[in-house]
Amino acid sequence: MNFSETKFKGCDYCKSTKYKTIYSVKTKKSLDEKEYYPTSQKKNALNVVECSKCGLVYVYPLPDRQKVLEQYRRYIDNNYLLDITSRRIKFRQIAKKLLDLKKGGKILEVGCAAGLFLDELKTVGYEPEGIEPNVFLASWGRKNLHAKIITADVESYNFKNKRYDVVIFWDSLEHLFSPGKVLKNISGVLKPKGILVINYPDIESTLSKIFREYWWFIISSHFYYFSKKTISKYLQKYGFKTIEDKSSMQYLNLAYLFHQLGRYNIRLADFLYHVTKILNGDKITTPYFAGQRTVIAILQNTS
Ligand SMILES: [Zn+2]
Repeated sequence: MNFSETKFKGCDYCKSTKYKTIYSVKTKKSLDEKEYYPTSQKKNALNVVECSKCGLVYVYPLPDRQKVLEQYRRYIDNNYLLDITSRRIKFRQIAKKLLDLKKGGKILEVGCAAGLFLDELKTVGYEPEGIEPNVFLASWGRKNLHAKIITADVESYNFKNKRYDVVIFWDSLEHLFSPGKVLKNISGVLKPKGILVINYPDIESTLSKIFREYWWFIISSHFYYFSKKTISKYLQKYGFKTIEDKSSMQYLNLAYLFHQLGRYNIRLADFLYHVTKILNGDKITTPYFAGQRTVIAILQNTS
């Protein structure tokens, strides 16, 4: 099957059609739709370019949207659920931090996966709901956490009269076909002075600069690679005032880390995974920095 492309309408931020290629993956011209994953990290990214006008870094050309969405919908990722404990540590921290800005209220998480973040937000008193295209993870969250999750794609979802106090994009904005369109839409569903939280891999991070196209976030399902500069441009354009944008530590379970390393050396990773399990490594979480940032912004105008 011919894996067609999404028609290029220029840079998502400024519409310029001029760009320069940063990373070119020459092994393949296009990817099969099975190579697009909603959660796990898969290499095989295609061309990564930088807009000559505004500096936004994105994938060009973008794959066919319907086919990617179909793959996001039906993919079964058991891996994601192997590391619930350490994912929760980070979500708990952010949930508590949000309390300093707004106590209680309705929260929407875009791309909520299995709903772990929603669960932490509920624990500290919010009314959270999520939107997630992946059927497997969304059903898992509804069944095991009683999380309120809508199985849908945010880019075609109609929020109608729904309004939220907080909207969160945790590692999801870079998966969208048009982050600009979605942020514009979101600015309309946020209440006045509503809070926006975005966690994203920073293409300007030191780790990204060292590892270049081998940086772990350069993967097939990431279509945009934001930086502090380009994220702030988007936020300004859609009426948000940034109140914080800083490096974000992640937490990882040691056994899970070795399991993930299997992408590079399966036998070694398998061995280490079993060793850490024996040593109770699946109970140990470790903080690490991978080159991500978390930005918090407030909606200024609601025109
Ligand atoms: Zn641009």
